[in-house]
Amino acid sequence: MFQYTLDIFSDSASVPISGLGPVSVPFFEPDLASYDHFLIAFSGGKDSVALVLDLLERGIDPEKIELWHHDVDGREDHGNFMDWPVTADYCRKFAAAFGLRIYFSWRIGGFKRELLKTNAMIAPVAFETPEGVKVAGGERGEVATRRRWPALSPNLRIRWCSGGLKVDVMSIAINNQERFRGKRVLVMTGERAAESTNRAKYLPFENHRCNAPGRRVNRTVHVWRSVHAWSDEDVWAIIRRHGVVAHPCYYLGWGRASCAACIYGSPSQWASLRVAAPEMFGVISTMEGELGHTIQRDETVTQRADRGRAHDMDPETIRIAMSRTYEGLIRVATADWHLPKGAYGENAGPC
Ligand code: SF4
Repeated sequence: MFQYTLDIFSDSASVPISGLGPVSVPFFEPDLASYDHFLIAFSGGKDSVALVLDLLERGIDPEKIELWHHDVDGREDHGNFMDWPVTADYCRKFAAAFGLRIYFSWRIGGFKRELLKTNAMIAPVAFETPEGVKVAGGERGEVATRRRWPALSPNLRIRWCSGGLKVDVMSIAINNQERFRGKRVLVMTGERAAESTNRAKYLPFENHRCNAPGRRVNRTVHVWRSVHAWSDEDVWAIIRRHGVVAHPCYYLGWGRASCAACIYGSPSQWASLRVAAPEMFGVISTMEGELGHTIQRDETVTQRADRGRAHDMDPETIRIAMSRTYEGLIRVATADWHLPKGAYGENAGPC
């Protein structure tokens, strides 16, 4: 089996990283013609949009491209606990605008069920496939009580939201689809070195944990972080080139489209969420009290919001972001495109 180690990265790119200055990161271009499926971890944020647009510019057959969106809040609660209500429909309409397939997947019960887990195993995963929704996983975990927010850590075992609600969900959905057997699959994720020193350490290309090249499964799965060496400017340039209207949160002033109530939220983001979605903010604040455990170690979300200053937000854009149906445009003429005010804003959150 071919081992992907640092010595295959014969090329490198210099990337400016906040607080560190320019850092050299490895750079790699796989042979794209050799893959049968391109699975894009599509959050609806700018980096995942850039992944898609870059693939299309490279001439990859859209039939081979699949957008995979993980619903952090699940589907069972009929409401949003952590994420922007509009995100799922924004992703759906983005896919439709580019004629691409999109598949949704989620941990049953979502973030809230995992947060409140009491004497239970982790929930199974539901995932859409070309043949309909399937359910897998959640059978072998240990019985445990959680009732604690995810830790603010790069370790996905204790930052259980990114691991359990996104990364593991994708792996379960790949491992449980026969259609990937005997195929070469390229998983694409949008981490960029410029976002953090932790992400600067990610390899641009490696074996995915679902890689199973042995005769029994015969499935090749690689991960390619095609935008790993890209700057913010590169990302916004390709979005502009295609006239893509970014997720509404960027127009409200957020610099990243992670969960609306991301555990990494800055004081200004919590202050903005309190204005844009007072009910959502209130539920999280109440939950901190009920659990006797706060997201940040040393302050409640209310104390954190009190330290921040809310963005100056347009009420109509708030309404769009908080709606479960995306009513805005996905594409406009380049001449009509404008940079969202959050484009180069705070870089808070790892997802
Ligand atoms: S965006 Fe934030 S809260 Fe949501 S899954 Fe990622 S780290 Fe967790």
